[in-house]
Amino acid sequence: MSDRIEVLRHNLEEIEEQMSALRDAVAVKPEYGMGKGDPAVTQWEFDRAMLEKLETRAQKLQATIARLESGQGNLCERCGMPIHPDRLAVLPDTTLCVQCAKKETS
Ligand SMILES: [Zn+2]
Repeated sequence: MSDRIEVLRHNLEEIEEQMSALRDAVAVKPEYGMGKGDPAVTQWEFDRAMLEKLETRAQKLQATIARLESGQGNLCERCGMPIHPDRLAVLPDTTLCVQCAKKETS
């Protein structure tokens, strides 16, 4: 399953690139101009929210990579059963088997 690690590492690299670009973008918060609705501020808030989303995603990817490296990556995080290879092919960063994922969403 080393291919899966490669895919995840690649995803993580892409996300880290986006994150560093966004960190530059949000480093300085623009001043509010003549009131709310300033496009620069709106953009800043959008970038900020995006960065938080990417950070969450990066953390999940790192955790999944760590599980893979320790040999646990093909096992469901919840019930410990092996995750079907077809599922991993479609969702390389999943940590739940089909059954547990269904419970999660329902
Ligand atoms: Zn499970």
